[in-house]
Amino acid sequence: MAAVLIDGKALAAQIKQSVRADAGTLPRKPGLAVVLVGDNPASRVYVTSKRKDCEECGFYSEEYALPAETTRKQLLDLIAELNGREDIDGILVQLPLPKGLDEREVLLAIDPAKDVDCFHPYNVGQLTIGTPVFQPCTPGGVMEMLKEYGIDPAGKRCVVLGRSNIVGKPMALLLLHANGTVVLCHSKTPDMRELAASADILVSAVGRAGLVTADMIKEGAVVIDVAMNRNGAGKLCGDVCFEEAAAKASYITPVPGGVGPMTRAMLMKNTLTAAMLHQGVK
Ligand code: NAP
Repeated sequence: MAAVLIDGKALAAQIKQSVRADAGTLPRKPGLAVVLVGDNPASRVYVTSKRKDCEECGFYSEEYALPAETTRKQLLDLIAELNGREDIDGILVQLPLPKGLDEREVLLAIDPAKDVDCFHPYNVGQLTIGTPVFQPCTPGGVMEMLKEYGIDPAGKRCVVLGRSNIVGKPMALLLLHANGTVVLCHSKTPDMRELAASADILVSAVGRAGLVTADMIKEGAVVIDVAMNRNGAGKLCGDVCFEEAAAKASYITPVPGGVGPMTRAMLMKNTLTAAMLHQGVK
């Protein structure tokens, strides 16, 4: 393997340690409320790991595991109550929600000052104009990795595969704000393979194992694999064919141990930011 492995796990641990140190200086512990509706097993795993992260960072945390039959009113009432709580700085509603609940309406109901996922249109707008209060967790985590490894997107050709609101679009914005020249690809992009092969920094966030092959990677490119898929053997993997990509790339993220832990660390960082704002600490 020629590429340097970008160790997201180690960097995430470092970030959480510094978040814990900063949280310890606040008059009141940062508080995060995580709301889970229904019994999606993957969501349950995410919620458990968020609880562990909160413990590691010295945060107060609350979990609400609501049944799949929860009504719109019950969920909105809970969010309104959490919005009004002084000890809760961040509110996270685990997606996807069960059918019948409107995700857009639910995300809009969260107080933007407690929107630590950075999904509320107010925060998305702030991000778009380049004045974000919170960093979108996954793309923000990618930017932290680039910074840690001395990779400056300025003047580089950055190609992002996938245009979701959660990953692809905010990723493109952050790279643009960092002065990268950004190309955003999606399922209707006819020449995605050629565009990817022209990238100095390639970020894949599609969700298809084996999508990114060596011919899509420029010699010496930085390859960031955001995806979390299961291969035929049920093993966790990204979009990128790791071994062949690592032979051409200069830097590469593994799956697992790459972007995933960084997403979690950025959520903690955002919750600290929210707590500082709520407590008037700069
Ligand atoms: P998503 O909402 O399903 O979006 C997938 C995107 O990929 C869409 O924009 C889609 O295009 C595009 N796409 C699908 N097939 C394509 C193809 N053949 N060629 C080019 N583009 C294609 O997924 P997401 O929520 O962004 O997540 C993407 C991946 O990242 C998933 O594996 C997810 O598990 C992972 N993820 C990881 C983390 C982490 O912390 N590591 C966090 C979030 C997500 P259209 O818009 O045209 O449909």
